[in-house]
Parts: sequence; structure tokens; C-alpha cells
Amino acid sequence: MRLCRFNHNRLGVVLDDSVADVTSVAHMLPSLRWPLPPGDVLIASLDRLRPLIERELSSAPRRALSECRLDSPVANPTKIIGAPVNYQKHIEEARADREINVGNDVRTIDYYGLFLKANSSLVGQAAGVTLPCADRRHDHEGELAVVIGRECRHVAAANALDVVAGYAVALDMTVRGSEDRSFRKSPDTYSVLGPWLVTRDEIADPGTLDLWLQVNGADRQRTNTRHLIYGVPRLIEYASAQYTLYPGDIIMTGTPEGVGPVVPGDVIEAGIGGIGTLRVEVSGQNKR
Ligand code: MN
Repeated sequence: MRLCRFNHNRLGVVLDDSVADVTSVAHMLPSLRWPLPPGDVLIASLDRLRPLIERELSSAPRRALSECRLDSPVANPTKIIGAPVNYQKHIEEARADREINVGNDVRTIDYYGLFLKANSSLVGQAAGVTLPCADRRHDHEGELAVVIGRECRHVAAANALDVVAGYAVALDMTVRGSEDRSFRKSPDTYSVLGPWLVTRDEIADPGTLDLWLQVNGADRQRTNTRHLIYGVPRLIEYASAQYTLYPGDIIMTGTPEGVGPVVPGDVIEAGIGGIGTLRVEVSGQNKR
């Protein structure tokens, strides 16, 4: 099932080129009072809501997908986890490019561990990416994103796909420079997720997916997730050994070679086989 959040907090199921509006099902979620539970309540309830969503489908109002404004399919993650240098050829290009690699040898994910991006950086494709300043290099990083489905800790790689709600395409936008990753990767709009969430039953093996990214129609990145150094199960094991994962938590699995700068006016398209294609416009900051 392809679930989307569209037109300002409506819940939809993407069916070919239309969206079935099943917002009425989301409205069955309990209203919450302070303090809110950690995690995304829709993702946490997905297994229970799914039969209700399927029952609504035949009578749900339809809209053309092209007319829907797609927001991030996850509204409330407790964290966005990033995997640094998780494709061998990206390690090699980072070692060769002093703007990617500032002052240090580029090592591996075993050495760096994982990093976190601010939740406030999360948007869907409709919001687009807004570069916060004009005097720095801003790179696209196209990535497979994993969305966690339930609270878990110390998950073994062998069982890790059981805790996944689904998958999406992500952009881990990055300002190049000397500052900490969490600072350079957390401006508003620097985490793009979408175009929708594909539930895990549609992706038999997240380690066999073609991934590609173009800027203004020109190829920049192209790989297959079989080239991940830490594949999805190992990333979940690694992350959950360090912190509790909650429903809606997002793991961006790392970017392949071909990262490069974008400027205002560019259009980024990033796709993953079996999931879909994100289309994101890049703009500059309008200072007010
Ligand atoms: Mn990345």
C-alpha cells in the first residue's frame, strides 16, 4: 500500500495516478493530551488501521495525484537517523573532493557511527528545498529511507525487517563545510521524505533496489541498494543498540557516489524502484 499525507494533513492511498482520500480513518485515532507519547500515532496504529483503510477504498473520494500537494508521509518522528559514508564509491569520491572531506581522512560507518538530523528539517516534496545561504555549497544526497513501525530496542539484524513500517525516497540535503554533520544537515527543508510511504509488504528485499537521482534532467547518482556497506537490517541493529526506536523514526541509509551541488532554480528528481520518484524544487532564502 502506498500511503501519502497530502493537501495539509489529509491521509491518502496512492492508486496509479489518483489518490483515494481516507482521512476519515485517520480521524479514528484517539485525540491526545499532554504529555504526548513518543512517535507517530498514525504509523504506530497502521496495522490496526489498515483493514479500515482497505474497507474505505472503494467509496473514498478520488483526486488526481498530479493535483495533490504531497507532504512528508511521516508527521511526527522522534528522530531522523543518518548513515554516513555507507557506499564504498561515495567514500572514494569523498576522499578525492576537499569540499566534501574537510580536513580529515574519510573513514567508514564503523568509525563514525550514525548521526541525527533535526526533526524540524523534515518536509515532503511539495515544500521544496530552501537553501539557507548563498555563499556555501549545498549538496543533494539521494537515499533509501526506512520508516520504523513499532517501538523497539536491541533488534537483531535477522529480525530487523519485522519492525519496519515501510520505505520511502529521501533527500539528505547537506551544507558542505567544517561544522558538525547535525548542524550542516538540519536546516529547515533539508530532510525530504516521500513521495509517499510504501508499506513493507510491497518490498520483499530492501537490499535489491535501484536508486537514481537527476538534477534538471541530468544524471547525478545511480546505484542499487545491494551496494550499501551496512544494509537495512544491520542499520536497524546498529541504531537500536544505541537508542530506542519509535514508530515513525526515519533511517536515511546513506548516499551513493555522485553527490553534487544544487542552486536556486534547480529541480531534483530522485527515484527508487518499487517506491516512486520524488520531485523537489530548490529555492533560495527570502530574507524577511
Ligand atoms: Mn546522507
